[in-house]
Amino acid sequence: MNSDVQYFGMSVDDVALTGWSQAGNLRKLLAFFAAEGVPATFFVVPLDEDSGRPFQALPGDYAGLLRDAYASGHAIGQHGLRHNRFEFGIPPAMILDLPHESENKRFAEENRQRLAGEHVCEKLRPRLRQGREILEDALGFPIVGFRSPALQESPGMFAAIAAEGYQYDSSQCLQETGWDYLLDRMDVPPREITRARWEKIRRKCQTPILPLTCDYTWYLSRKKYDQVLALAQHDFHACLREGLPMVTVCHVDPVWDGEGIRFLREFYTWARSAAASQGKTLQFMTLDDLAREVE
Ligand SMILES: [Zn+2]
Repeated sequence: MNSDVQYFGMSVDDVALTGWSQAGNLRKLLAFFAAEGVPATFFVVPLDEDSGRPFQALPGDYAGLLRDAYASGHAIGQHGLRHNRFEFGIPPAMILDLPHESENKRFAEENRQRLAGEHVCEKLRPRLRQGREILEDALGFPIVGFRSPALQESPGMFAAIAAEGYQYDSSQCLQETGWDYLLDRMDVPPREITRARWEKIRRKCQTPILPLTCDYTWYLSRKKYDQVLALAQHDFHACLREGLPMVTVCHVDPVWDGEGIRFLREFYTWARSAAASQGKTLQFMTLDDLAREVE
């Protein structure tokens, strides 16, 4: 990594996830990133859970949109297989504590033993491969990055990612306070982001891990805007101080429902000047490129 540069990896989750991804919103996001000069990484759900159809058979010409996105400098990654909560591991407590996850939380508690038997490398490898092949067949270029749905994880998942030859994983989080804010716990202080913590996370997998901070834009309300911006600024300052890449995420529909886009525009502008004030250049990079850069 170049010490004169502060790296910024913007990513988008839930592409082609029924109920959470309208192709029109993906189109608008691509226009937004083009206007901002931001190469982003789009994590795509390969298979529709309800209908069993591959993503390219869903309405909205996702394959065409994503091929164009790739050609214009964005990256495409794999977001699980069906976006089932437990297909590769178990989501962290902060996610299972969200109101719309209560059923999944109960399921995890009642099936912990059985799930541990499912989440072993030899069972997860074919599942990973199935999703990757769906994406590669439809898009015509290699898929090298993985992010699990709802940041679920298991030791078997990390072993399978390494065994299948992915170039990076991005299923880990550095800033849990973002999820406290979603639960209206606005008095929870930001977690500290340090290089020691980042390196500890990276030891979970033989393949490089690019942990994200959190999603600042999930149905962001005006009421929470200033405090969420302060959290993002806290995280960016920590990355600057510790020499870590800043990786963050938004979601296709939720970023458009509220103040998310205004937030990203303001945050990008602020981050450019915050980096400059430390004598650094802010460089937006896809996670595919970032994975090579940080090794
Ligand atoms: Zn997701």
